[in-house]
Amino acid sequence: MAQVQLALAEAERGCLPRVCLRCGDEAVYQVGRVGKIPAEGHPKITWLIAPFCARHRNHWRTQARVTVLLLFVFLAMGVGGSWASIPWQSKWHVVMHPFLAMAAWIVAALALHYRSIHFKQISDGGMVVASVAPGFVAALAQHRASQASLIPLRLPRKPAWRIVRFTRTEISGQLPAVCICCGKPGMTWQEEGFAMGSTPPSILAQWATAFASVISLGWLVAVFFHRPRARHCLQAPFCEFHSRHWWWRRVIFFAGPLAALIAGLAGYSLFFADDPRKMFLTVFGVASLWFMVGFIANHTAVRVLDATPESLVLNGVSPCFIEALEAEREQGR
Ligand SMILES: [Zn+2]
Ligand SMILES: [Zn+2]
Repeated sequence: MAQVQLALAEAERGCLPRVCLRCGDEAVYQVGRVGKIPAEGHPKITWLIAPFCARHRNHWRTQARVTVLLLFVFLAMGVGGSWASIPWQSKWHVVMHPFLAMAAWIVAALALHYRSIHFKQISDGGMVVASVAPGFVAALAQHRASQASLIPLRLPRKPAWRIVRFTRTEISGQLPAVCICCGKPGMTWQEEGFAMGSTPPSILAQWATAFASVISLGWLVAVFFHRPRARHCLQAPFCEFHSRHWWWRRVIFFAGPLAALIAGLAGYSLFFADDPRKMFLTVFGVASLWFMVGFIANHTAVRVLDATPESLVLNGVSPCFIEALEAEREQGR
């Protein structure tokens, strides 16, 4: 497998040859992948819209699914080990099983990552993508020399891509009247402030924050130390149904830890005292439930991915909205 250097504009707009990144055959799908540009305390978000053949269109999805599946398998093994050692063995045994299971999962996940197509290095100058087909590298060299090198590839089977970068002019201007959630004609406009802390929240960080919320109301600490790098106010279009989209997320964010805490305390007073297995199950159950609710609420939200002084990147945006925005951009040129 080879590696290839791409300019950020090339990668984000998908100005690539019609060749599968994995095998070098003719590409029929485009798949987006988000990466981070490391910088002193302020990583920036970028992405690659990669061409794939029909066989490899699920290359990253399969990798992600296998990784999550392995997480559950190892977690089940770890929790099962703890379960078996309560209450006959020492406390040390109870903690050891999940810990060993997580260590094994990290090794497996890393092995999967390096075998798949991955960002080897990203900087403001461009990205190095590793584990790609040598055929793609050759096709890219040819493509760059051709007239079409600056035209974004638009394959007939372009799946939904939900990430969009707004420029400063677009943030302060009027966006197309298309619901940012579902793509229906927008009727109401909601103003929302977007700010970005010193590091973009990875899924792992979000999970850690959600977990910390249950344990120690850690979000209070997070809010206190939150120093935004850039702040933008966007007038976003919504249809009637989605007009309270962000309001609901806020309710879940604040009410969730409170509900989990009450459930935990109620569980404590009802079952905990005499049965260590019930205590283990209640704590595990409450934490898992909050994980799931938080994960779904976050995953279905229109959410900030990155904010720099020059631009704002949102995820979870309706592809129809992105199409409408791109059409307006074309007209503006
Ligand atoms: Zn392929
Ligand atoms: Zn809508």
